[in-house]
Amino acid sequence: RQDTAFDVTLRAVGLEGVLVAFQDVTSVEQAVQMRRDFVANVSHELKTPLTSVLGFIETLKGPARDDAGARDRFLTIMEAEAGRMNRLVSDLLSLSRVEAEERMRPTDRLDLGEKVRSVLGGLQPLAEAAAVTLARDLPEAPVEIRGDTDQLRQVLVNLVENGIKYAGRGATVTVAIEPPAHRARLRAEGVLLSVADTGPGIDPRHLPRLTERFYRVDTHRSREQGGTGLGLAIVKHIVNRHRGRMRIVSEPGQGTRFEILLPV
Ligand code: ADP
Repeated sequence: RQDTAFDVTLRAVGLEGVLVAFQDVTSVEQAVQMRRDFVANVSHELKTPLTSVLGFIETLKGPARDDAGARDRFLTIMEAEAGRMNRLVSDLLSLSRVEAEERMRPTDRLDLGEKVRSVLGGLQPLAEAAAVTLARDLPEAPVEIRGDTDQLRQVLVNLVENGIKYAGRGATVTVAIEPPAHRARLRAEGVLLSVADTGPGIDPRHLPRLTERFYRVDTHRSREQGGTGLGLAIVKHIVNRHRGRMRIVSEPGQGTRFEILLPV
């Protein structure tokens, strides 16, 4: 009933007292498109190893039937491909679980320093096999935070494993915690957890998309390293659930650092 230009126009065309509702469908359409892309990506990621396994089964049933050497080689490849499908399904389940829990406040009380020590201990054999040194820079005192124990472990495992996978032989991966007291100015902001490596770094143009599902800088290298392309997407959702913030600092030749600010 207010005399807006729109109202005047309506009256001019003989429509009065009409309620017109507009809905912006852009975001709905975007969500539908994202879902479609995700299903297409998952199908493709599963189909590639599956096609390879089926191909080797055919060969083993036919031409390579009596060739013991070929059989061993093919079985090894099939085992690796099945492992890849297994990792993908595990990561998809993790992703859907963390998405479902994103709005639920985590309630465990834990010592973040202790968590880092235990994850680094568990990944030591992997680091040794890749000739990567694991280091830590942690405060002596416990760093008490409220969070989800399993999910924070997963954040650490994903980031340190990435460091081991992508930094290359001879590199060092350092996990550090800066408690709020060390940064008096930022006291209110929380604990700063960082995972830094001395690897080749990442071109800045990739950084904004790095946490998207299935986004990889080098798909071939990621696959070769057993990557699913979901690790950082999982990390992002867990950080969101903890009301934290993540920043990726990297430059070619300067290594990569993932910084996570967790509220205390
Ligand atoms: P992936 O399973 O491929 O490792 P992630 O989501 O964990 O998937 O990482 C996405 C991509 O980010 C990787 O494929 C890799 O190209 C890049 N990346 C992640 N961590 C590092 C790192 N520490 N150094 C260099 N590149 C990295």
